[in-house]
Amino acid sequence: SPIPDYLAEALSSVEADQSGATADYIPELASADPNRLAAALCTEDGRLYSQGDVDAAFSIQSISKPFVYALALADRGFDEVLAKVSVEPSGDAFNDLSLEPETGRPLNPMINAGAITTHTLAGPRGATPQERGDRIIDGLSAFAGRRLEVDDAVFSSEISTAYRNRALANLLRANDIIEEDPLVAVSGYTRQCSLLVTVEDLALMAATLANRGVNPRTGRPVVPAAVVRQTLSVMATCGMYDGAGDWMTRVGIPAKSGVAGGLIGALPGQAGIATFSPRLDVRGNSVRGVALFERFTSDMGMHLMEVP
Ligand code: GLN
Repeated sequence: SPIPDYLAEALSSVEADQSGATADYIPELASADPNRLAAALCTEDGRLYSQGDVDAAFSIQSISKPFVYALALADRGFDEVLAKVSVEPSGDAFNDLSLEPETGRPLNPMINAGAITTHTLAGPRGATPQERGDRIIDGLSAFAGRRLEVDDAVFSSEISTAYRNRALANLLRANDIIEEDPLVAVSGYTRQCSLLVTVEDLALMAATLANRGVNPRTGRPVVPAAVVRQTLSVMATCGMYDGAGDWMTRVGIPAKSGVAGGLIGALPGQAGIATFSPRLDVRGNSVRGVALFERFTSDMGMHLMEVP
């Protein structure tokens, strides 16, 4: 296959770019090696290709959001989830408040306010925080096709400085959007963000979305096709926060970024793609990751608004 050589060449074409900076509001992320660089692609029939720092493990961060949204939709149904979290792009930063004026609902599940809420909706109604956390780890592991684990150092580092997320959760509680102790919700959400992944795990997770919710390597159905359609739609409109319009026009596939430097894109019926490079732009998206995806789109004709 020409794909490994192609990926290696794409990585070397962006390697020299040292612009951007690692996220510094989470101390543990600020000290990550900023030079790491990797890319992986998994086809809808399960062929996996990767190049660069493929063994580097990093925290999933906000890339957990679309997957936990999918689990919440699968576990609680569309009506219950949509009653709590809307699906409108906020055009705001990931940690913005962005609540709908009349209902107090977070505008979408990709910003933190929405993601803290969808975290509380995973698993059956009445599940304990522990059961809910287990459901999320099991679910994300099924997307990845292997057992994922929490990085306790990243978790402690973030929770000890999570004043803004605690404020968001308190407002959600005041508006009756979440129904529990706000600190419990933030703690569970932060743990979810601290799950360790590699670029290959992320490509597999994205490929499961691209393959109607069935993991293409294990063959295991993870979430129903209707849930995948909803999740990919929200990724396309809100996945890149205030850079969503720029991303959709330039790259043109549903995507999600994380502050540890991961980035995924899912091309329905075709492939899942992931990149890892820790330096971020002002919107919190990986600089070299965005550059790689722009190349992938033009080289492989992936843009959804383009006739192949
Ligand atoms: N855990 C991070 C936070 O809540 C996730 C943010 C991100 O990856 N954009 O701030």
